[in-house]
Amino acid sequence: MSPNPPAPHAASAPGRVLPTLNADGSRFVIRPRVAKGRFWKRRAFVAYGLIALFFALPFVSINGRPALLIDLGAAELSVLGLVFRPSDGAVLMLFGLTIVLTVFLVTALFGRVWCGWACPQTVYLEWVYRPIERLIEGGPERVRALDAQKGIAPRRVLKYATFAALSIVVGNVFLAYFVGVERLGEWVTSSPLEHPGGFLVMAAVSALMMFDFGWFREQTCIVACPYGRLQTVLIDRQSTIVAYDAGRGEPRGKAGKRSAALAVVEPRGDCVDCNACVATCPTGIDIRNGLQMECVSCTQCIDACDAIMDKLKRPRGLIRYTSKDILAGKPKKILRPRTMVYPALLAIVGGLLFWQLRDRPAAEVWVLRNTGAGFAVLGDGRVSSQLPLRVENRTEAPRTYTVELVDAPMFEQASPRAPIELAPRGTTVITLVTLAAPDVFVHGERKVQIRVRDDAGFEKVVGATLMGPETGNGNGAAAPGGAP
Ligand code: SF4
Ligand code: SF4
Repeated sequence: MSPNPPAPHAASAPGRVLPTLNADGSRFVIRPRVAKGRFWKRRAFVAYGLIALFFALPFVSINGRPALLIDLGAAELSVLGLVFRPSDGAVLMLFGLTIVLTVFLVTALFGRVWCGWACPQTVYLEWVYRPIERLIEGGPERVRALDAQKGIAPRRVLKYATFAALSIVVGNVFLAYFVGVERLGEWVTSSPLEHPGGFLVMAAVSALMMFDFGWFREQTCIVACPYGRLQTVLIDRQSTIVAYDAGRGEPRGKAGKRSAALAVVEPRGDCVDCNACVATCPTGIDIRNGLQMECVSCTQCIDACDAIMDKLKRPRGLIRYTSKDILAGKPKKILRPRTMVYPALLAIVGGLLFWQLRDRPAAEVWVLRNTGAGFAVLGDGRVSSQLPLRVENRTEAPRTYTVELVDAPMFEQASPRAPIELAPRGTTVITLVTLAAPDVFVHGERKVQIRVRDDAGFEKVVGATLMGPETGNGNGAAAPGGAP
C-alpha cells in the first residue's frame, strides 16, 4: 500500500469541524481505503463465519424448536430448544443481566472488541456492502469522482440495485428470527395481498437495511449506537484499545534521507505522517489524536501503519493493541476493581440463572382474580364458589391436568371432575367450582390449597381463597361429596 496524500477525511482538514461533518453542516462522506493486513484477514475469517451462522441459525432446530426464535406474536422466546414466555420473568431478567455484565467485563478487558470484530453493523458493512461497492465503483478515489459527478452514473445505479436485492435477502433472514422460516417461506412464496402486514414488515426491514448500509453507515456507530457512548465509563486506563504510540511516533515527519547533523538537531519519530491510518479509518478519525469515541477498534489503522513500517523497514506496532497505562510506561494489571467485581457478579447471576433453568417446572399455575362476586347461593342453601386458575403447559408434548382441593372435606368439588388436556406449550383457564354449606366461610372467605398435577409427574400446590357469604362461622361440616 502506498503512502497517501493528506487524508481528505481528517477532522483537522480545512472546513471540517468533525470527521464526518463539514463546517457548513453538511455531511462529509467517508470513503475509506481498505488495508489488507493480518488483522483484516483474521477479521474476515470471523466475519464470514458470523454471516454463515446468521443465515444458518433460523434453519437449525433443537428439540423440534428453532435454535433462536423471538416470536413477538406468541410472546415466546426460543433459545437452544428452551421456550421462555413472559411468565419466565425471573429467567429472562437473569439472562438479560448476564448479557449486560458480560458486555461490561469484555469491554473493561478488551475495549470495543465487539464493535470491530462481531457487531452486525461492522460485519455487513465491511465484509458485504463495501466489498460490493469496491467491486462495482472502484477504490475511494473513483467513488469520490462518482460522488462529485452530476447525475447518477450507471455504475451507481447498479450498486444500489445490488444493495437493494441484498438488503431484501438479509432483511428476510433477519425476519426469520421473529416469524420462523415456515411462516417466512409462506410470505415469500405468496402474494403480498395475502399477508399485507407481513409484507409491510418485510419491506420496512429491508428498507432500513438499505438505508443503514447504503447511506447512514458510520453514523450508526457515531450518533445512534448507545454502546459507543458508554465507552468512557466502561473502559479504564488498563483496557485494551487500538492506540498510537506517540512516544515512538513523535515528532512525526516525512520519510526521506536527512543529514546526520539535521537528525541530531531535529530528531524524528517513526511516524512519517503518511496519513495511511487516517485514509483507512471507517469513521474518519485520526488515531494519532488519542482515543476517541468514534473509534470502533476495527484495527484497520494497525494494518495500514504496519504496511508502512514494513516498507520503511521499521518495527511494526506504531499503532497497536495496547492500553493507556502501557503507553505511559506502567505495567499491565489484569486484576483491578472492575475486572474483579464484574466476574463476581457474573458468577452470582450466572449461578442463579443455572439454578432457575435446572428447576424450571414443566408447567406453571396461577390463581386469577374473580371478576364477579366469586360465589352464588343455590336454591338448596348451599354455596357455589368459583375460582379461575391459569395453567400453562411448558413442555413440547400434550399433557393432561387434574385439579383438586387438598384436605378440604367441607367442600364438594363440582368442577373440574375430569382431567383436562392441554396442547404442547398450551395455556388454558380452568374454573374450579366448589359446593359447601354457608357456615364454612369466615368473613365471606375460606383459605384452601389446590393441587394441580399432570400425567408426567408435575405437581404444584397453590394457596387460594374461596369466596362465600359473610354469615358463616367457619365450622361447616364436610360436604356430602367431599373433595375428589
Ligand atoms: S482509529 Fe483505527 S481502529 Fe479506530 S475506527 Fe479508525 S481505523 Fe478503526
Ligand atoms: S501512524 Fe503510521 S500510518 Fe499513520 S501517519 Fe504515521 S506512519 Fe503513517
